[in-house]
Amino acid sequence: MSNRLKVTPNDLSAFWMPFTANRQFKQAPRMFVSAKDMHYTTSDGRKVLDGTAGLWCVNAGHCRPKITEAIQHQAAELDYAPAFQMGHPIVFELANRLVDIAPKGMDHVFFTNSGSESVETALKMAIAYHRVKGEGSRTRLIGRERGYHGVNFGGISVGGIVTNRKMFGTLLGGVDHLPHTHLPEKNAFSKGVPEHGAELANELERLVTLHDASTIAAVIVEPVAGSTGVILPPKGYLQKLREICTKHGILLIFDEVITGFGRLGAPFAADYFGVTPDIMTTAKGVSNGVIPMGAVFVKKEIHDAFMTGPEHMIEFFHGYTYSGNPIACAAALGTLDTYKEEGLLTRGEELAPYWEDALHSLKGEPHVIDIRNIGLIGAIELAPIAGSPTKRAFSAFVKAFERGALIRTTGDIIALSPPLIITKGQINELIDHVRDVLRSID
Ligand code: PMP
Repeated sequence: MSNRLKVTPNDLSAFWMPFTANRQFKQAPRMFVSAKDMHYTTSDGRKVLDGTAGLWCVNAGHCRPKITEAIQHQAAELDYAPAFQMGHPIVFELANRLVDIAPKGMDHVFFTNSGSESVETALKMAIAYHRVKGEGSRTRLIGRERGYHGVNFGGISVGGIVTNRKMFGTLLGGVDHLPHTHLPEKNAFSKGVPEHGAELANELERLVTLHDASTIAAVIVEPVAGSTGVILPPKGYLQKLREICTKHGILLIFDEVITGFGRLGAPFAADYFGVTPDIMTTAKGVSNGVIPMGAVFVKKEIHDAFMTGPEHMIEFFHGYTYSGNPIACAAALGTLDTYKEEGLLTRGEELAPYWEDALHSLKGEPHVIDIRNIGLIGAIELAPIAGSPTKRAFSAFVKAFERGALIRTTGDIIALSPPLIITKGQINELIDHVRDVLRSID
């Protein structure tokens, strides 16, 4: 096993890497071979500070013993059990533990294997819910411009990222989009939630008027859009969306794949903003990113609406071979134990002011045109290079990796979301890396 890990591949061509410029990467590959707590180690033996919690998922830091041991134990005890018409104890235990930390009223959990699958599950659940309630005409789904909801067909249809949609044909019909809430001319350099733009939620009323509420199943939004460059909800925006959805019998889905499990300094964004959706999609932090897993949280009324037919009937024709996989459940339980013991689901609250100050100290550095932050998320937006497809942020990412920090980029935006175990000293270190990098790029 350890020998296998030491093998250095001499041909990188077979693996078609996801969301990667394959040809460019393979000329100058960047490889991690191990990780511990806040750091990765590269194949050439350098330590790299993880400024992004992997891909917004390793909230408790890397290779945490409780999680590793839980996986090892479970793999030797019960490796797999059929997900349909069979159970195993820890999947029920995990569901109970998740409901215990979920926003009030979200009493049921459906397991998936990723954020994308959680989104598909939520969208199908919303449409099916209206149908079981006798409102089968409610099939329309409303997403948002610049929303990211994974890569499956439902997710890219309600999502609003042009590059992720344009190669893939007509997508789902009956989908509309709210405008995004990125208003740099009014909100640049806001600290935390921006002041301006709550009225953009009223666009939902316009869509209701256009299509009639009786045709609309659900609205899906990320409370904080992460993947498209950290777009924050203006003050009062999510409350307004909630009110309009409730008024018209439309389900509100929060995609908390990034914001779930402590990222904002509260267990979920729903807690942070005091707005409870009807369905909440999660993944990533549920298992600390260690084993693929997603969890869709559902309000009691929605779950119960499915439980009214004959008892021998399957209530929801949906699920995955690996829904509630025992080893993933063990990883998730180890993760929840770690979060609890170290107070990580709320640690961001205490660190957020320090994080905010450190991040905003980059104002005035070369190329910086906006800085945004919330909880332990940050974004630094750089001026585009006029007339060129080259992105400064990508150069910054490569340079940061070479210097010893992992950051993430989307277009002209650098996004940061470190593991929730980060220390103040490591925050300084991360921001210093970014500062040096900004000063070194053209
Ligand atoms: N929804 C949101 C909000 C996300 O940020 C992501 C992933 N970044 C997804 C869905 C998709 O998750 P996955 O990559 O696990 O399918």
